[in-house]
Amino acid sequence: KHLKKWFTAKSSPFSGKKVYIKAVDDVSFQLYPGETLGVVGESGCGKSTMGRSVLRLIEPTAGEIVFEDQDFMKLRSGELRKSRSKMQIIFQDPYASLNPRMTIGDIIAEPLEIQWKTSGEEIRKRVLETMEIVGLNTKYYNRYPHEFSGGQRQRIGIARAIVLRPELMVCDEPVSALDVSIQAQVINLLRRLQKQMGMAYIFISHDLSVIKHISDRVAVMYLGHVVEISDKADLYQNTLHPYTKALLSAIPVPDRHTKREKIILEGDLPSPANPPSGCVFHTRCFMAREICGKEAPEMKDYGNGHCCACHFAGEWNK
Ligand code: SF4
Ligand code: MG
Repeated sequence: KHLKKWFTAKSSPFSGKKVYIKAVDDVSFQLYPGETLGVVGESGCGKSTMGRSVLRLIEPTAGEIVFEDQDFMKLRSGELRKSRSKMQIIFQDPYASLNPRMTIGDIIAEPLEIQWKTSGEEIRKRVLETMEIVGLNTKYYNRYPHEFSGGQRQRIGIARAIVLRPELMVCDEPVSALDVSIQAQVINLLRRLQKQMGMAYIFISHDLSVIKHISDRVAVMYLGHVVEISDKADLYQNTLHPYTKALLSAIPVPDRHTKREKIILEGDLPSPANPPSGCVFHTRCFMAREICGKEAPEMKDYGNGHCCACHFAGEWNK
């Protein structure tokens, strides 16, 4: 609720004036057990910062995080570590997140060693079982990450993330660095694991086709804000925010007889150090009117939890 992550930077070494980079600026949403919330937006919109802030891998500037009725922001390091066993993250670049000097077995075992205070044999058993679940041959136990392809490495990253059987997993662009042919395999693996283990995913991607494939609900981010959040079908069929409309118009239509007008966004993404006044999207919005530069629109529920922050939500239909 009202999650913020502001980074400070000096505007110039001479003036020494502090500037705030509002990477995540007042984001609220709910996540239900076992569901996938897709988070989509251009690079630099704050998706990754939001995902890491939710897990407190980076400390939020302000806001509330409630996990299973517990105020996650109030937990101190010991309790935080315990709760962390229920929340994991997988990254875009599986190679960078795997220690090259550790064997696959040791990499996957590490979270267990931190959380469990048990014998090596129990840990080994869980690691082997987890390798099988993600489709890694258990013969690879003593091999090193560099011996594997990108897709296999992402399986190792996933095995490490699920070895504690978490309830929530943040997937930060987990297939963006992989070949298209491998992407589907990894996505199908994630879906199968979700069914088997009942985890909830926050699935971050800049790719709306991937988001459409995997999500139950979708949150659209722009410049540190969630501008629209909804059940997937409703978002695609009854789009309310002009930015979402523009993003969707950029997806190629598979059927060449259906025509869809592509909406081109003017200008670049503004700097989060100096966001536009009023509605942060007004400098690029094809619907902007005078009020948009003056007043920030509030997030409103348009029914069934379909929320949007725009003064003229869905008004192109009128
Ligand atoms: Fe566009 Fe105005 Fe809506 Fe912002 S509030 S998205 S500028 S129409
Ligand atoms: Mg990112």
